[in-house]
Amino acid sequence: MMSKDNKPVLKADGTISLNDLEKNEYYEVNVSRRVDFGVFVDINGNIQALIRNDNLNGNKKVGEKLVGEIIKIDKNKNEVDMTEVGMNKYETKEKSKEINLSLVKEITSENAGELFKVRGEVIGVKTTGGPTIFTLTDGTGWTWAASMDSPGSRAHPHISAGDVIEVKGEVSLHQGNPQIETASMEKLRGNKSTEFRERMNEELEKRTEIEEVNFLADHSVLEKLENRMKNVAKEIKKAIHAGRPILIRHHADADGYVSGLAIEKAILPILKETSPDPDARWHYIKRRPSKAPYYELTDVLKDLIFAREDKMKFEEKMPLIVVVDNGSTEEDIPALKRLVEVYGLDVVVIDHHDPHVVEGEAPVDEYLKAHVNPYLKGGDSNLTAGMLSTEVACLINPEIKDQIKHMPAIAGKGDHSKYEGYIKHAVDKGLEEDELDKIAEVVDYESYHWKFNDGKGIIEDILMLGTLNRHRKLVNISWEELDEEKKRTKRAILPHVKEKTFSNGIKFNTLDVESYAPKFEYPAPGKICGMVHDELEEDSTVTLSYGPDFCVVRASEEMSELGFDLNKIITEIREDKPETGINGGGHEYAGSIKFFQGERDKVLKDLAKRIANL
Ligand code: MN
Repeated sequence: MMSKDNKPVLKADGTISLNDLEKNEYYEVNVSRRVDFGVFVDINGNIQALIRNDNLNGNKKVGEKLVGEIIKIDKNKNEVDMTEVGMNKYETKEKSKEINLSLVKEITSENAGELFKVRGEVIGVKTTGGPTIFTLTDGTGWTWAASMDSPGSRAHPHISAGDVIEVKGEVSLHQGNPQIETASMEKLRGNKSTEFRERMNEELEKRTEIEEVNFLADHSVLEKLENRMKNVAKEIKKAIHAGRPILIRHHADADGYVSGLAIEKAILPILKETSPDPDARWHYIKRRPSKAPYYELTDVLKDLIFAREDKMKFEEKMPLIVVVDNGSTEEDIPALKRLVEVYGLDVVVIDHHDPHVVEGEAPVDEYLKAHVNPYLKGGDSNLTAGMLSTEVACLINPEIKDQIKHMPAIAGKGDHSKYEGYIKHAVDKGLEEDELDKIAEVVDYESYHWKFNDGKGIIEDILMLGTLNRHRKLVNISWEELDEEKKRTKRAILPHVKEKTFSNGIKFNTLDVESYAPKFEYPAPGKICGMVHDELEEDSTVTLSYGPDFCVVRASEEMSELGFDLNKIITEIREDKPETGINGGGHEYAGSIKFFQGERDKVLKDLAKRIANL
């Protein structure tokens, strides 16, 4: 409805300044202050006008809405005078400045004071004591829009993470970074939103293109995995640019730490470049070690609870899950089902545990966005997750290649890999081969003590990503200690090892690790098993150390030629004797097994029988 003289009643948004007003225009205004000679009213957040008592119809309260006509504009004095237009039924028409649509990347600190209009997907909302801060991206970059209804209250409650919005406002500087002081914020729907998403996707495709592929080693399986590695790299890059948090889950051993760190190191510089938020690295990337050689329920449930909490607390998007040195095996499926089927998350995996490929596909594949594993292309676990992850890290961010290229050799030592193609890069950075062994053991030792922590700040020093001097000191100190502990344990345990040779020539060593080694101390049972195995290994040897309800197995390389596969044996015993509660796995030649305490003898005898019958 028009006013009595057919003039529209305007509602000025925040883009309107004094220069945009014209005499005799009608505006809907709010009473903001009463004075002796009249009232002051807000035309918008920037412009106030005075209505003198003569021009008012009766008393007004602060906060009251009314319609005013502009009777005088003094641009020099920055003053506007109005007279009240007695209207109680009217419709308003938005008055907003025409501003050309810009890309987010076009907003820089040099644009302070200028008006901008951008479209973006909301990737985070933070309610502060003052304005509500919306973080948004259109794929070309990130920016902030600050909006305030009243201090401390959540502005635009109908807009949340994942929505597409159009924001207009003046650019101001906040701690040196440009931020839009929101004059208007509108949620885009239908065509406008679809078009925006298409353009944002194109932009992301462009920005996440993987450039040259120049692997650090020339292993034939690497080439065959190239496309899969590119897919993982692309998913990770896309997540960074789209403002999706990334959670890296890695096995808590040297190979796992190398895997996780390599990916983290690749992401951080891109995140820094993309996000205006200096705190982005704390919000958008998390790395958590897993004790088990697979993504166990304890870990995945914790991850889901934290992700849901962050989503509510910081109004973030749900994360991309990057599982490295874990994630490929059937033991991972319960975790993947929860992440993917229930909560709709995307998961990518870089692993070298045997995924039991059937016709080129692994059972976990149906849950994964992208999957790198040497077994998928005829390789084996000697190409470790740390090696593969470092290659993927270089695809994500080629600039960090020199910084991380020594790490795959450490990963290889940690996992007893027979592949030596990466050692040259470590030598290139001044590391001797025996130092690589030491570093791998120090990762084990230190992380054994920091337990479920991610080791941030120290793991970088151990893996020679920080100060060289500190790296040397820490590795030396730690290695002396762990070497002493190992010697002590070895002295205690070796007299209690039972050696037996089966008629098929396989040597079988067993030891009761709970009775003859220090409990809950370094080295852990898995490590002890490896130490004893290395000490007593002959041609075909299987070493088994057991406790009340678990055992750890290590086998010589040649054992796989005899058909030894620990994971297969576990599955067979589980099918044969489900009452034992047997569970676990790892690599075909090394892993850990759990069972019911009362069924220990049955499990161990069955295991021995299967090895004797190979
Ligand atoms: Mn590994």
